Amino acid sequence: MIRAAMPPPTAFATPDELGRAELESAPVRYPRPSRLAAPLRVEGAKAEQAARALGLETIGDLLEHLPRDRREARSVAELVAGETATVVVEVRSISSRSVRRRGMRPLVEATVGDASGLMKATFFNQPWLVQRYPPGTRLVLHGKYEARNRFRVQGHARTGEGVGTADGAAEAVAHYPATEGLSSTQILALVRAHAGALSDVPEPLPAGLRVREALPDRAGALTVSHFPADESDVDAGRRRLAFDELLLAQVVLLRRRRSRHESTRAPVLDGGTGAAGGGRELTARWLGGMLPFPLTGDQERALAAVDADIARARPMQRLLMGEVGSGKTVVALYALLRAVEHGYQGAFMAPTETLAEQHFATIQALMPGEAVPAGLLTGSTPAGRRADLLGKLASGELALIVGTHALIEESVRFARLAVAVVDEQHRFGVRQRAALDAKGPDGLVPHVLHMTATPIPRTLALAGYGDLDFTLLRELPRGRQPIDTFVCSTERERARAYDRIREELRAGRQAFVVCPLVSESEVLQARAATAEFERLREGELRDFRVVLLHGQMASGAKQAAMAAFASGAADVLVATSVIEVGIDVPNATVMLVEDADRYGISQLHQLRGRIGRGSHASLCLLFGPKESARLRALAAHADGFRLAEIDLELRGEGELVGVRQHGMAQFRVAELPRDAELLERARGHAERIVGADPELELPEHALLADALVATYGDEALAPMRA
Ligand code: ADP
Ligand code: MG
Repeated sequence: MIRAAMPPPTAFATPDELGRAELESAPVRYPRPSRLAAPLRVEGAKAEQAARALGLETIGDLLEHLPRDRREARSVAELVAGETATVVVEVRSISSRSVRRRGMRPLVEATVGDASGLMKATFFNQPWLVQRYPPGTRLVLHGKYEARNRFRVQGHARTGEGVGTADGAAEAVAHYPATEGLSSTQILALVRAHAGALSDVPEPLPAGLRVREALPDRAGALTVSHFPADESDVDAGRRRLAFDELLLAQVVLLRRRRSRHESTRAPVLDGGTGAAGGGRELTARWLGGMLPFPLTGDQERALAAVDADIARARPMQRLLMGEVGSGKTVVALYALLRAVEHGYQGAFMAPTETLAEQHFATIQALMPGEAVPAGLLTGSTPAGRRADLLGKLASGELALIVGTHALIEESVRFARLAVAVVDEQHRFGVRQRAALDAKGPDGLVPHVLHMTATPIPRTLALAGYGDLDFTLLRELPRGRQPIDTFVCSTERERARAYDRIREELRAGRQAFVVCPLVSESEVLQARAATAEFERLREGELRDFRVVLLHGQMASGAKQAAMAAFASGAADVLVATSVIEVGIDVPNATVMLVEDADRYGISQLHQLRGRIGRGSHASLCLLFGPKESARLRALAAHADGFRLAEIDLELRGEGELVGVRQHGMAQFRVAELPRDAELLERARGHAERIVGADPELELPEHALLADALVATYGDEALAPMRA
């Protein structure tokens, strides 16, 4: 057997080889993790309470309390009047001023200094400091430097030797999330006091993984984050901590996914895929004769993926992502019909009544001649009809049902539910999932196809939905017309824009005018839309029939406006962003958006999706600054997934629409998209680990299992077969 030579040891997170002398002088570490469980003692009742509020109960908690950022510590000579800064100094003399008058705050004054100079530090309301900080004490002070060489102290703590540099040069000091009663500076002092315990921090990663990823050990990574040295070490340390977070999250997701595969069974819907033949009669007839159009390539692939999923006894858990209009409903209906042709039932759940009604209508349109009778069950279904539907679901007479999440209520019984489609799954939690599982026949759970119209960049999908399989519908159905998008900034461009709109209107097309988003007030927004409507009606578009639509209108008036536009009785619809949902007018070929830069990328993309639906080419005119990165992205890209990625790059995960609802912004250190590549690597390792050792029973995974429990609680490691 050939073995690769061991690479020579290198310094922390660098390729620099260590010499023999350095290696021999390195301190030997004897980690004793139990020391980390020792309670953290904090001086003073108030500080103790504050520590508890920050979750700092043990030494280990303290060492895991990571700095938010670093502050440059200043030397005394560098301080500029008015600035807030951190300094590391020594006390030369200290005294308290007696409090003579009422209302005067006790004051302690100290002369402090470093190699660069001296200054007067003032502490309020803490007369005991005279005893606590005798001359010679080294302190970290945070506060404001004021005129006449005074430093008004806001945070202070004693610190050890070797802090601050002898020549008074600046150094970086960790800055911690703090709270009333326990300042960042005090936390820093605590961390310094317990720095020795850093060597007790266990290494959760298997050695092989750590070597392959060239990651520093966890103790080292924590050390540099508390005591920042040079930039590249800090970065390597941050990467390591981020990797741990991402890896643990992926292990949890993959275990959850595996657990569902291992511990639940779904009906096997493999008729027509195996040698047995048959069992495909309905879908074959539907695809061959009833569906009024050929499938897109993406739809074909999605159907194949669904087919493979439901042909197995382990339940499908697939997320189908595609923008509005990408043809998800076709895929959903296919999955449902596969259930029906196997003698089972299918259920289609939407988050709102309106969406349920829309899906129901789409399904009816996709199945001309009612190949399979389907029912619609929502909150407004009359009692008699509801009772009838429930009876038929329970008897199995009704094979297809569309409804809201009310379909998983206790009172709804299915005879043989095999496939469920869940639209917009972020409103569908663990409890709903369990309720849905309980609807399956004879101890089996239904196959589930989740759908979302929010384009989620792959990295976020992995972070948030790593327990699902993904299918993307990127390609829009044939017949979709390209949309030319332009950013208009100047008056000339505006004039030209109205020319183009009039051209389209004269050619018999229709146009949307979208008014600016006024997020503070719907009333203001309505007023702005009304003003623009009046202006256009008398001005640029006076030769045409213009109607108004905004959220403050009575619902009758809204419906009338929508109907007029839909029927072609109106040429132009002036609207607020309410048109984002629910209007389908294939004859509309122009959209003008005022103050477009007030909208987010995804919102503009959704808005734009209202045009380009007919047989004519379309035009989108975005009014706003040419330099806007968002507007430029819209002008350059039509693909919602690409735009979502750009949005993520521009804004970071915390700000991305949908991310919060999806519960994806969950990390302390890791940041997406910055750590996207790290996430992919963590995912790969998590797959290998869970694949080889799902219960994390191997000795090399013992500490990883501990970390998992420490982060996610005992359930994270609950045995998969309950
Ligand atoms: P989604 O659910 O993703 O919003 P739908 O399935 O409702 O999309 O489809 C949107 C519209 O496109 C529907 O009117 C549907 O009939 C039509 N459509 C779907 N797939 C195709 C296709 N392959 N070719 C042409 N039209 C399609
Ligand atoms: Mg749809």
